[in-house]
Amino acid sequence: MFPPSTRVLILDDMQSIRDLVKGHLRSLGYQELYEAENGQEGLKILVERYAHSQPIQLVISDWNMPVMSGLELLKQIRASTTMGQMPFVLLTSEAERDQVTEAVLAGASQYIVKPFSGKVLEEKLKGVWAKIKK
Ligand SMILES: [Mg+2]
Repeated sequence: MFPPSTRVLILDDMQSIRDLVKGHLRSLGYQELYEAENGQEGLKILVERYAHSQPIQLVISDWNMPVMSGLELLKQIRASTTMGQMPFVLLTSEAERDQVTEAVLAGASQYIVKPFSGKVLEEKLKGVWAKIKK
């Protein structure tokens, strides 16, 4: 499983969802949490943390956000030489289920349909970690 020191970036245009994800992550022992409301703001944080030698190590991102969507961000990350391998978990709504294939093709490590429990998040993260460690 991702160690407790993992720096996690949480992206959603809804504060309530960001709070929910942060709450789940805190109860799993994670404290290095960063957040933003769209992909563009998220990208700024990714670049800034990388420049400070404190790179983000896991991104949990909503799909549907104004300015820059989670999918657009994912594509940028996967195209990046420094962040190309970033674990990336996409949050989708029930209505977007059909688009999940696109997310997988774009390189999402995992996806979670909202709303979800802390237990589901934990299981998904364990799955992502297991893949990385192979
Ligand atoms: Mg949204």
